[in-house]
Amino acid sequence: MSQSEQQDTIQPNTVVHIHYTLTGDDKKVIDSSRDSDPLPYLHGHGQIVRGLENALAGKRVGDKVSVRVSPEEGYGHYDAELVQTVGRDEFPEGSHFEVGAMFEAAGPNGEPFVIRITEINGDEVVVDGNHPLAGQHLNFDVEVITIRQATTQELEHGHVHEGDDDCH
Ligand code: ZN
Repeated sequence: MSQSEQQDTIQPNTVVHIHYTLTGDDKKVIDSSRDSDPLPYLHGHGQIVRGLENALAGKRVGDKVSVRVSPEEGYGHYDAELVQTVGRDEFPEGSHFEVGAMFEAAGPNGEPFVIRITEINGDEVVVDGNHPLAGQHLNFDVEVITIRQATTQELEHGHVHEGDDDCH
């Protein structure tokens, strides 16, 4: 696959590879790319949380960025109304019931969102539709690894085409 031109700075419509470590306010590591390949994303398309995307704008290869992202610019505030008790019979047949199991549900307008089982009481299951990181501040330590222009096709699709992520 031919790669397009390298870019000096992170701009909208560039493909950026970053190494990142995400920690909570308790200093525990929530997620990190350091044990695997850098994460590619298409800048300016909301593929990563807004607070992090804003902090990376204009950065260069080799730059290190530490940013504390608020829930508003991260995964939103915790919404107690997204916690519901439902019957086991409302789940698809053959569902595996376990605390922590995740299912895709449809929102009021049919939009898909992920729910997580947080409690099981006999035939009743408590599910939480909040993002697991909702309500939390996110502390990102990021290093910019590469920056290149996105291809026309990547821009049409709104995502990066690389390696296993190639959708064609
Ligand atoms: Zn695609």
